[in-house]
Amino acid sequence: MSMQAVVLHEPKAAFVESVERPDPGPHDVIVQVAACGICGTDLKIYDGDYLSPYPLIPGHEFAGTIVSLGSAVNDAYLGMRVGVDPTLFCGHCPFCRNREFNHCESWGAIGDTRDGGFAEFVSVPVANVYALPDSLSFNLGALVEPVACAVWAMERIHVKLGGSALVFGAGPMGLIIRQLLQSAGFIDPIMVDRSLDRVALAKTLGATHAIPTRDLSQLGETHPYGFHVVVDATGNPAVLSSAVSLVRKNGQVFLFGVAPKGATAVIEPFVIYHKEITISSSMAINHSYDRGLTMTETLRSELAPLISHTRPLVEYRDSMEMLKQGKTMKIQLTP
Ligand SMILES: [Zn+2]
Ligand SMILES: [Zn+2]
Repeated sequence: MSMQAVVLHEPKAAFVESVERPDPGPHDVIVQVAACGICGTDLKIYDGDYLSPYPLIPGHEFAGTIVSLGSAVNDAYLGMRVGVDPTLFCGHCPFCRNREFNHCESWGAIGDTRDGGFAEFVSVPVANVYALPDSLSFNLGALVEPVACAVWAMERIHVKLGGSALVFGAGPMGLIIRQLLQSAGFIDPIMVDRSLDRVALAKTLGATHAIPTRDLSQLGETHPYGFHVVVDATGNPAVLSSAVSLVRKNGQVFLFGVAPKGATAVIEPFVIYHKEITISSSMAINHSYDRGLTMTETLRSELAPLISHTRPLVEYRDSMEMLKQGKTMKIQLTP
């Protein structure tokens, strides 16, 4: 039997076409995809700047219904509405043995290194599926993956109850991070973005303090001692030097956005020494999907408006263009 899927034959050559439906391995289930989000990593995979093999069906932020089971899977899974943690790891390398699964020597992800969710059906290991509560739509189910990345980031951010926070980049990821920082006890985190459109949009999405980059100097008046934590959710290397100057003494600069590989940034080591700054980061998900699901459910009324577009699978290439222009929030395809 065949199905419709986005096939990336090589970088920049993606087509929506008819392909063979996947068969489940013994420990796999087949998920009929209801919604699959597009994110910045998909742009990198599309451009050939990631660790993906080609041809590939991309898509790693998805949810749907289990419609068939591998031979070793319990019948109870059939018909279950699920979200999928895309993370794949070996379980026995030195990193896995230290519970650092996101650094696995054979790290991979469904939709990044094996066929993913921009398809009607996808085969995934049963260990990667999580039952969705009735309160979560498939669209919110497909948002759990980015929330789970932000949950892992929060585990590495030095939480300061009553502390101040500044987030560069008012896209969907930046706004998710803002929500979690607020849940963790930071007071009204401030958003910064180059784009006036995004600043305006962020304000309508609950970020009461959102400012354009050109107004950064105003923060010297409101926060003369700087911020306890400054998060970069842009991946723009130039943000690092601003973050180092805006962070409070003994504060933390946190890199969450993915900078282009090989890009460099200029920072002044004396400032890091003198202010006792911590610079750290987080990469993907590390057993945080379960809590990502709980947080998505808890914050569903705040997070749902971040899904700005749901479009049919055939609009994949057009949606990638929209994402590049940066005027949208989260775009999801509904196969
Ligand atoms: Zn993603
Ligand atoms: Zn491993």
